[in-house]
Amino acid sequence: MDTSSVLQGGYQHPLSRSWQARRHLTKSMFMYPIFITDDPNASVEILSLPGQRRWGVNKLEEFLGPLVKKGLQSVIIFGVPFNCVKDERGTPADDPSGPVILAVKKLRQLFPSLYIACDVCLCEYTSHGHCGLFRPDGSIDPVPSAARIAEVALSYAKAGAHCVAPSDMMDGRIKAIKLALMNGGYGNQCTLMSYSAKFASSLYGPFRDAAGSAPAFGDRKCYQLPPQAKGLARRAIQRDVAEGADIIMVKPALPYLDIIQDAAELAPNHPLACYQVSGEYAMVVAGARAGVYDLRTMAFESVESMVRAGCTLILTYFTPQFLDWLSE
Ligand SMILES: [Zn+2]
Repeated sequence: MDTSSVLQGGYQHPLSRSWQARRHLTKSMFMYPIFITDDPNASVEILSLPGQRRWGVNKLEEFLGPLVKKGLQSVIIFGVPFNCVKDERGTPADDPSGPVILAVKKLRQLFPSLYIACDVCLCEYTSHGHCGLFRPDGSIDPVPSAARIAEVALSYAKAGAHCVAPSDMMDGRIKAIKLALMNGGYGNQCTLMSYSAKFASSLYGPFRDAAGSAPAFGDRKCYQLPPQAKGLARRAIQRDVAEGADIIMVKPALPYLDIIQDAAELAPNHPLACYQVSGEYAMVVAGARAGVYDLRTMAFESVESMVRAGCTLILTYFTPQFLDWLSE
């Protein structure tokens, strides 16, 4: 055998194996997606997302207190309203008495060190269930869509969100939000995390169950990216960098590791997030239950692949488990 053939000497020990990583998992890399509903006392299991619940504002202390003690450093809030009157423009999205704004204020008060991001979209609040606003002919109207989304983002920033994260995929919304934050005095107080490359994936099913956000008609293929679209994803990432995003995100994660790697190359000076979405999480859990693999080993393998591809921040429903696993 030639000397250049022998690699095993370099990873024969658990410690030398750990040195093979360019970047190690830390608790601070994990952002926990949480669902807040408008019944203040709710604690309702979401059957398609094992272990996850819809929470009311009054339950946030008992829900997150133990996790903060274990080292939880950030959450991203999704509003799940059941009792609001939805309309064409998603008016309840920034209702000051709606679940998101109440939750932000409550969390700031309960956990001063917790970093609070808010997902920003209209689909949970529009009568049609889409992420933007329509022209009379039924096509998406990008300018008022971006303007409305920017309005909602500014309201969340004013409520105390450290980060706003638009997931709508409307054209021009990053610039519109950045300008709204700047003009509102929050340009230097609130991070703008863009769901830059968000694909029209089959993996959002459990989330739609959780958030009740399936569109009333049609689908989201006119604004979310086609799964085969590598070039378009690269353009979306470059656009959002140019428009002023502070963090770039790729969603979903596991089937799109090449896009994460592209984002790391195209936006090397930005933090890079990925979202291990509801369907990915449900698959890992289901496979483990079926005896295909060990849950913990597979959960590590999945997020380590994302870090290896270039991510510095992972949104995942496994966050509570990783806080335990990374404590050992
Ligand atoms: Zn949406």
